[in-house]
Amino acid sequence: MIDEGDVQRQQRFRIVFFLLGVLGVQTLDYPQNIHHVPNFYFSLFKASSKIIDEPERIRRKFLWGGGTENSKICWIGWEKVLTPKRNGGLGVISLRATNLSLLTKWLWKFKKELNSLVVKIITALQSKNNIWQTFPAKADRAGVWRNITKTVVDLDHDNINLMEFMKKEIGRGDKTAFWWEDWSGNGILKEMFLLLFKIEKEKCCTVHARIKQMGEMKNYEWRWRKENLSTEEEMERVCCELILHDAPLSETEDKWTWQLETHGDFSVKSLRRKWETENLQELQYKHWWNSWVPIKVNFLGWRAALNRLPVKAELRKRHVQLPDHLCGFCNTEEETCEHLFLQCPWAKEVWRGVEEWGGFELRNIGSIQQLLSITNHQTQPTRDKKMTNTLLLVTLWALWKSRNDRNFNGRVTPPWRTIEEIKSQSFLWIKNRGVTTIPSWVNWWKQVSSSKDYTFGFIRNRWLDTFAPVGIHHVCKEPRIVHHGGTFFQFIRQQMGSNPVSPQGSRGSGSY
Ligand SMILES: [Zn+2]
Repeated sequence: MIDEGDVQRQQRFRIVFFLLGVLGVQTLDYPQNIHHVPNFYFSLFKASSKIIDEPERIRRKFLWGGGTENSKICWIGWEKVLTPKRNGGLGVISLRATNLSLLTKWLWKFKKELNSLVVKIITALQSKNNIWQTFPAKADRAGVWRNITKTVVDLDHDNINLMEFMKKEIGRGDKTAFWWEDWSGNGILKEMFLLLFKIEKEKCCTVHARIKQMGEMKNYEWRWRKENLSTEEEMERVCCELILHDAPLSETEDKWTWQLETHGDFSVKSLRRKWETENLQELQYKHWWNSWVPIKVNFLGWRAALNRLPVKAELRKRHVQLPDHLCGFCNTEEETCEHLFLQCPWAKEVWRGVEEWGGFELRNIGSIQQLLSITNHQTQPTRDKKMTNTLLLVTLWALWKSRNDRNFNGRVTPPWRTIEEIKSQSFLWIKNRGVTTIPSWVNWWKQVSSSKDYTFGFIRNRWLDTFAPVGIHHVCKEPRIVHHGGTFFQFIRQQMGSNPVSPQGSRGSGSY
């Protein structure tokens, strides 16, 4: 646990170390008692790729269940793991992006807090007292600050032009350098008009000193080193005035705005998101990270959709020796993700039950990506779509669990048992995640959407009316009805045959 005192202490350390670094103190040891050294380190020092690679390697191993000593198969490329969820990835935060974003915060402070002590010290040490230089850094003065200024180059290398997002919003123009800052939106004037800048008398003048707004008109108060301008210089002056004609001067304060946030202030998160967009490839399949089910269930669905589960066919591709590659349920086809979850007769039976009970229909589903995207183009309310998505994910999870039980423990789970597992587990998860609109356990067990009128569902509901109390009794502990084997539907049919249930609901005695 970190208390407030720790946070304050950490911030103080950070400022002291930053100032020491600015002053050129080279040998910095990290304080031993500080929490979150990576954060502390990342917010002050540029981590070399060697430093970043090691923790990234540990994180990668950890994700796939390996330790520092042993390695396991990394099923999904690390880049996809780092890709944000909105772009189809797992959304693990990139250390490089975090490091660069944290360092940029100092650059932002440098521009934003012009009158602060830190900015004055940096300007005095790193430039010839020109406060307008974008990020001054003397080549012969190594230290923390000079490394921080290199962030601009690193970001540029990662396809991010920092100054594109750090904009000067001009007001009166008295806190903006006429020649040094891109305040007009056209570019930096000293780079556009070289001849004029050469003959400028006060190179650090403000916008206010050069342009006076008189109603709609603008007055230019030039101060040149010489009396008469040459033809070239005169041409530049005319061009410059043309460009500045529409410059939006007003009576407000000049200020820096951060373009990646609507409130205009810098945030580490916004820059990190931009970095992710620019540097990590968007995946075609976008997984719906459903908050009604645990992460492990979402993760399984995501992996299944990307065909990255350790099914026998995939293990064979990775040269893992196995006695056979057949599906443990039908023993006829190779065990691939698609066969296991969609095509296997055993899976089909489970799906039939889930469709009946869930009140939806799956048609022409060729892949798991297609299965998990069925709600994408539907017009039902989001809550209903989420419910369908939840049932799909829980079914995948239950199928996978039954498969593992069969392959590793030799335990055979009949489809009806898997369906019951799906019913009870989905109820418990949704309920535990605080979804208040979920039906009662009795109605849930009957049908997710009890308003749907399915003939078979209706008869089955009558049957459940008879026997449901056994299940209801076990809510949250062991919510299962005990059967005598056979499939769920065979059992119902047997029950119906030997003990017909009329729509009027005469209660049968039941066989157990
Ligand atoms: Zn099979």
